[in-house]
Amino acid sequence: MISDKMKHLVQNSSVIRAMFEEGKKLAAQYGAENVYDFSLGNPSVPAPEEIKEAIRDIVGTENDILVHGYMNNSGYEDVRNTIAESINNKYDTKFGINNIIMTVGAAGGLNVILKTLLNPGDEVITFAPYFGEYKSYVDNYDGKLVVVSPNTATFQPNLSEFESKISPKTKAVIVNTPNNPTGVVYSEETIIQLSSVLDKKQKEYGTAIYMISDEPYRELVYDGVNVPYLTKYYRNTIVGYSFSKSLSLPGERIGYLVIPDEAVDSEDIIAAANVATRILGFVNAPSLMQRVVAKCINSEVDIAIYNKNRELLYDSLTEYGYTCVKPEGAFYLFIKALEENDVAFAAAAKRHNILIVPGSSFACPGYCRIAYCVDHGTIERSLPAFKKLAELY
Ligand code: PLP
Repeated sequence: MISDKMKHLVQNSSVIRAMFEEGKKLAAQYGAENVYDFSLGNPSVPAPEEIKEAIRDIVGTENDILVHGYMNNSGYEDVRNTIAESINNKYDTKFGINNIIMTVGAAGGLNVILKTLLNPGDEVITFAPYFGEYKSYVDNYDGKLVVVSPNTATFQPNLSEFESKISPKTKAVIVNTPNNPTGVVYSEETIIQLSSVLDKKQKEYGTAIYMISDEPYRELVYDGVNVPYLTKYYRNTIVGYSFSKSLSLPGERIGYLVIPDEAVDSEDIIAAANVATRILGFVNAPSLMQRVVAKCINSEVDIAIYNKNRELLYDSLTEYGYTCVKPEGAFYLFIKALEENDVAFAAAAKRHNILIVPGSSFACPGYCRIAYCVDHGTIERSLPAFKKLAELY
């Protein structure tokens, strides 16, 4: 009885989730310490202590009706004010309460903004490799996802192909930096070029093309690398932020959208995003968590823990003969599969109790994603298995 659209989606349901289930089975068979599950991007670093303190403090001292009640569909005014000020201090921007809409994570934010912007048949461009859910999110509003093929030398976006794929129907472009699955951070030069391509095409077609910056990994960067704040480079930028990774709160479902006043039709977009939040059934972002993240706006997770994993895994794998662009952000390593078929390679890895996700899940066959958000001991124990796997080729 389910809809034809859902039948199709269920059939193609996330390979990543399936792997996660597989990992649990293997752990039951071989013992959890002998299974190296790098399949899921679930933070392994605990949320900062301040989160627990904030929850206790809010629940213990604030007005229950306020803390657990309905509010403006865009979120509590004081929370949005704190977030706007924090962004302004960090990036020298000028956002106010109206520019911030609290969302149910990045996933909720992307759905709200796509519902707000898309007419059936509108095109949304993204760059492979990309987070596979984008296709479903765009499809939710009868849009069409247009994919730019990967630039495997650097995993920076392929800008000439991008330009050729922009059409009068292009309504938005989704960029994700730091990137899942490559861990690559788009350079400032890339952002400037990307913006200038968009400016040129907007003029040519007389349309507005929105750049949606999906940035749940903004805070997870290494070696002091700079992640440009995209609203400063391109007028029609909308930011989708999430606390899932920056504060290790993925199950709490909390994030926000930034819709700048400079964006074409910003007032209408802000008003429509408020309504979209309601009618998509979110009604509002989780109330307690809104208050918690506002209280913990300056807190951070200990990214040194991820960095230690990154260094050990990158150094060891490249020594064993794997190739990969050294990631500067997020908690993923995107290695070239040691055989042409990435699905076959991931299956070979599984025979060594290593669970990794084939790049074809991200529209980038020939590669595999390793999510190194695991405890350091798992990485240490997995190295002999990675070495043996490499020796087969
Ligand atoms: N976008 C990207 C690129 C992601 O990797 C993820 C989650 O892994 C999301 C969006 C969804 O994040 P959230 O938990 O904030 O909904």
